[in-house]
Amino acid sequence: MAGGLHIYGEQDLEQGILRDYSDKSTLGHVIANAIIKGTSQVERIAGIMSTFQDRLRVPWRGGAKQISMDSLLPIVLQPLLAYIAAQNLWCTLLVFVSIHICIFYMYNIFMKFLPRTKFFLMWTLTSIVLLMTVFEINVVPLMEILPEENFVLIVFVVAALACAYKVRSRAPLNHVPYTDPTDATGMVGNGKATEEVCSVCRKRVPPRTFHCRICQACVTKRDHHCVWFDCCVGEHNHLLFVLSLLLSILALVYGAILTLTTVCHPIFFMDIILLPDDCSDVYHDFQIALCFVSAVYCLVLATLLLGLLCNQCMLISLGETGQEWRMSHSSCCRPWMSDRPYSRGVLRNWLTFVSCQRY
Ligand SMILES: [Zn+2]
Ligand SMILES: [Zn+2]
Repeated sequence: MAGGLHIYGEQDLEQGILRDYSDKSTLGHVIANAIIKGTSQVERIAGIMSTFQDRLRVPWRGGAKQISMDSLLPIVLQPLLAYIAAQNLWCTLLVFVSIHICIFYMYNIFMKFLPRTKFFLMWTLTSIVLLMTVFEINVVPLMEILPEENFVLIVFVVAALACAYKVRSRAPLNHVPYTDPTDATGMVGNGKATEEVCSVCRKRVPPRTFHCRICQACVTKRDHHCVWFDCCVGEHNHLLFVLSLLLSILALVYGAILTLTTVCHPIFFMDIILLPDDCSDVYHDFQIALCFVSAVYCLVLATLLLGLLCNQCMLISLGETGQEWRMSHSSCCRPWMSDRPYSRGVLRNWLTFVSCQRY
């Protein structure tokens, strides 16, 4: 990477994308393209969907705001799935397996045809609202939760939300402003570091900058584009992203334990911690079943986020961003090699990360 003028692009996202539909931001185009091949039928169905979507507006400050159909999907889907999952154990298993398959499938579809979708952001927001609603309306009135426990959970949730909000609000700071390619302002350091040129927007950018096709911007020290927050994680919001992961895991696990110890038969672990023991009769009452399903959803989410957090910790220790990791061809063998130009040892890599330095 170091030395000379480098031209690169975002290889991983560019591959496999034949056509960019990002300018046609209606779900109508996605559905129509996925189902029907004929151009006239695509346009006809897309037209119908666009008309329908055009009428979907909510009152907003400064005028009614249009809602896209893909943003609306999680708001409809999640309560429906929660209702089905709360019927019995088999429904719960079926719904949780289906969610994983559907999300994976929808991710691939959206990334191909509608990369700027708000579907995943709305999924995150809907999950938070539903989980908190179930907890406050169904679990707390069962009188098993202490006010202090409820307060601690709310603090975790608010802290995680505040971090997530800052991740989004600081994301534009990662975007490299336009610079004249003939100008030397893109150079960083005192002549030691090199300038590079983004192959997509032909902009002079600092090292470790990568183009994001979804944000349509060059992102400094880009780690990845987080669809759940609908923004890129890079130099100015990476620390906040890791913090939001940690706080979310704490909130999810704590909320799940509080819920399960309320709706299931609890036992004491080491005479201090209350843990759920027997949950076999939760499906006898719909409200209790709904609480149980919410708690299981929290634990599934916490497990997935824990995996992501471990991955982030490994990359930070190695002094690499997720983008650099993915672009390396022999990633499976690299942890033990020392060909990382920006790595300065585990401790200094963490200090660099915590102090939000670029190198
Ligand atoms: Zn670029
Ligand atoms: Zn992005």
